[in-house]
Amino acid sequence: MRQITPVLFLLSLLLLLGVSGCGKQSPSASISDATPKESTSQESDAQKIEPQPSPQVTKKTIVIDAGHQQKANTQPEPIGPGASETKMKVTGGTAGVATGIPEYELTLTVSTLLKEELEARGYTVLLVRDRHDVDLSNRERADIANQAGADLFLRIHANGSEDPFTKGAMTLCPTPENPYPIGQLYEDCRLLADSILEGFTAATGAHAQMVWETDTMSGINWCQIPVTIVEMGYMSNPEEDVLLNTPDYQAKMVVGMANGVDAYFQQKAG
Ligand SMILES: [Zn+2]
Repeated sequence: MRQITPVLFLLSLLLLLGVSGCGKQSPSASISDATPKESTSQESDAQKIEPQPSPQVTKKTIVIDAGHQQKANTQPEPIGPGASETKMKVTGGTAGVATGIPEYELTLTVSTLLKEELEARGYTVLLVRDRHDVDLSNRERADIANQAGADLFLRIHANGSEDPFTKGAMTLCPTPENPYPIGQLYEDCRLLADSILEGFTAATGAHAQMVWETDTMSGINWCQIPVTIVEMGYMSNPEEDVLLNTPDYQAKMVVGMANGVDAYFQQKAG
């Protein structure tokens, strides 16, 4: 007993100190926690350690490039980082055989509508260009997407063929052997290309031509985020040219592409 007593005394002292310490802090702490300033900082701390929110909640940023521009720039630029092979900075694009509308006009019309549709779904959207008289090479367009810290880069184009009967939509992505940094994102790019083509053709009823895996596109090779080129249809096919330039069909195209974007993020979320 005599030996235990000092131990008990010490324990009680420690307990008292401990309890008084807690007792002193907790009521005042809970009061100060109730003040807006402290509760806000606690909330933001709590959010940081929470698991990843669902993609519907997370704000994703998408950069859209309306393909081409009023005047081509035929100066060469490397087709990818460190490449000795070059291509024209930006070509003039095609034009509608029936409507006469140039591709650069159609791509900006659709890109603007797509921006509105994606923003309505909660995405943050940036357009590489919002007018025709720009001078932006394909590399520069990719750089804009890279520097925006975006989650996706969508490049909007329309196709042309010497065969007036050829029609349908296709999407493009790099190959698994792509030698540039984008090659490491092949799987994401392929998933994006598949999702967009599926969404697009489901909404429009267009023929799904293919997902074309290619390492020949500067605007893909210079990119550091998941990217696809959407070839919406053939302006060399009179029927498809008219469709591509019809507001009803344009509304279907943007809904289809936005569905593809949603599907991509849903798949990524697992
Ligand atoms: Zn094009």
